[in-house]
Amino acid sequence: MTEPSDAALRRAVAPVICYPTGTLPQPDLGLYRTARAGAQKVAEVVVPPRDAAAFEVPAGGFFRITSVEGPQVGDLNLWNAADLSERFYSGKTRALHGTHLTVGDRMWSCFPYLRPMATMVEDTLGWYGADEHGGRVHDVIGTRCDPHTHHLLSGEDYHHCCHSNLTRGFAAATGMPVAEAAGAVHDVLNVFMCTGFTRDTGQYFMKASPVRPGDYLEFFAEIDLLGVLSACPGGDCSSEHSSDTAACFPLLVEVFAAQPGALEGWKSPARNGYSGTHGT
Ligand SMILES: [Zn+2]
Repeated sequence: MTEPSDAALRRAVAPVICYPTGTLPQPDLGLYRTARAGAQKVAEVVVPPRDAAAFEVPAGGFFRITSVEGPQVGDLNLWNAADLSERFYSGKTRALHGTHLTVGDRMWSCFPYLRPMATMVEDTLGWYGADEHGGRVHDVIGTRCDPHTHHLLSGEDYHHCCHSNLTRGFAAATGMPVAEAAGAVHDVLNVFMCTGFTRDTGQYFMKASPVRPGDYLEFFAEIDLLGVLSACPGGDCSSEHSSDTAACFPLLVEVFAAQPGALEGWKSPARNGYSGTHGT
């Protein structure tokens, strides 16, 4: 392969941000924090290692995911509790906010809804930033570990990948048959996971999560949510997933309800305003 004579010039073109976020509706984090200060805990669920658990959060509530016994990565799926066809859209969230999420970023829903489902309000790993390998935490690039890719690469069956855990958790929460539930599971937010792309080959990498017991992520629910969280069989994802070899720990999910009147002026975002005619 020969390079054209102007290769350097072509590479030197400055990048343009695909989706400048200046016109995105901004969350009122001050209002959310004030509401959170008076909020009461209403539910909690412990996600067992190598398994998943479901939880519901009413619009205007909060949910917190905490590392409790040891470094552990979680894979999070969200649905609109009132309409399961509306679910988290990892790819568009990445296009809007970047490869990894932190405070102020939203988890957006799929087409045609495309609205904020949840807004991140606390991140005790926010100090991590980017490391020397280009690793960051809480990615929306890694999809989820799954038994199909594992079978493709190893020829073996393993049933406790996040995809299967999320499938069982969603099926149990909704009563949906497993095959249908598997089709509703979608690309995740990788809670606490530390990931990036190698500089030389651009390959997706993971490394030991910096999470420690007591660290947490907290979200404000913009709409009524059904969440399912898997405690990844990779544990802190320092070596491998899709097996029972890694040390795995539970994750705690707590749900908080704001006091009546605490969200004065806030309302659940409307679904996307596009007419839906697609030019027909
Ligand atoms: Zn996983």
